[in-house]
Amino acid sequence: MKKIILPVALLMFSLSTSFGQNTSLLKSKIAQKAEGLEAKVVAWRRDFHQNPELGNREFKTAEKVAAHLRVLGIEVKTSVGKTGVVGILKGGKPGPVVALRADMDGLPVKERVNIPFASKATGEYNGQPVSIMHACGHDTHVAILMGTAEILASMKSELKGTVKFIFQPAEEGAPEGEEGGAALMIKEGVLENPKVDAIFGLHINAQTEIGKIKYRPGGTMASSDWFKIKIKGKQSHGAYPWSSIDPIVTASQVIMGLQTIVSRNAPVTESAAVVTVGQINGGVRSNIIPEEVNMNGTIRALDTGVQDMIHARISQIATNIAESAGATAEVSITRMCPVTYNDIPLTEKMVPTLEGVAGKENVSITAAVTGAEDFAFYQQKVPGVFFFLGGAPKGKPISETAPHHTPDFYIDEGGFVLGMKSMASLVVDYMEMNTVKSSVGK
Ligand SMILES: [Zn+2]
Ligand SMILES: [Zn+2]
Repeated sequence: MKKIILPVALLMFSLSTSFGQNTSLLKSKIAQKAEGLEAKVVAWRRDFHQNPELGNREFKTAEKVAAHLRVLGIEVKTSVGKTGVVGILKGGKPGPVVALRADMDGLPVKERVNIPFASKATGEYNGQPVSIMHACGHDTHVAILMGTAEILASMKSELKGTVKFIFQPAEEGAPEGEEGGAALMIKEGVLENPKVDAIFGLHINAQTEIGKIKYRPGGTMASSDWFKIKIKGKQSHGAYPWSSIDPIVTASQVIMGLQTIVSRNAPVTESAAVVTVGQINGGVRSNIIPEEVNMNGTIRALDTGVQDMIHARISQIATNIAESAGATAEVSITRMCPVTYNDIPLTEKMVPTLEGVAGKENVSITAAVTGAEDFAFYQQKVPGVFFFLGGAPKGKPISETAPHHTPDFYIDEGGFVLGMKSMASLVVDYMEMNTVKSSVGK
């Protein structure tokens, strides 16, 4: 008996110490590599910043990404979901498949920032000539993930699993009439072959100081849906309203009714929500009551139950108010983007990794965001964590930083090393946790 127990005990001891040593060795290698890659990543980022491309048109960006991954010896698939690039790095040891995602698209915004690599790019957006700018910071995501790929490729033989690098087009939405973004990449199989077990992504944030990381367990960024309501009444002379069914008065009542959804139906202490009517059209002149009024709006929710409730209430309110006036309401709601929902157990497991690279004092929970992010589509399929990386210059009051999607949007490059360390460490730690689990199970 002793002869059997002893080697097993020894083996377990040596396994547990080698796990710990292996990870800490990889971690220090990651840190060293990330520092060494900073200048390269900054140069890539400046190149992408100066040459932004709109959603589904990221041809040159994708080419540069694919060329870099090939140099690293990573298996590359191109044209996944239009211009998407997927890199597959098989580690030397068996283990889970971890995906890392960066979005590549710029926006139709004219840059006003005074930097030597400011964008002068122009293009066409939905038939209109536009200036193009990386006004959401996706240039930094691409550069950081290219750097992360270089780090992880350098430790390929020691990796306990497979890394899938997803360089995604059109996060901001595809041009009219086109599919795109995360949803299209998923449709084309990005999460299969090999099947992804977990996914991580970051967003640079112009309102978070460099060196800081913010995250939120559960609903982090809101779902985004569009709604259209057509109120149909009966036209008449404006001086004889009694012979009309006035869609303008009815539409006004509907708008006020919609405002009771968030104030009276949503569980506001648990989960915020927004209902906005952003557009209303009806009538051609002052003394004609028109036949119809059309309105368009947006719905934001941080919980899918609340999202569904809002959809149902919009239809109910519009239809019943219209009916009470003798009019009709046609309601259509288009689901655009789900809730960016950070899997709670996975988030809890991975936060120590982020604290390890940034320092505990630099990692904090953020308020939920009512903007949307199409990373949510991946999280509908596999557990994922999406977090925010500081991109605001140190010491500058946040009130003076320009918001995302504006001509003055500016990112301090000092946060890129932390971005690489975070992404690479999430991979290594996730693999470690899940390999240990499976060998214990066996
Ligand atoms: Zn954006
Ligand atoms: Zn963005």
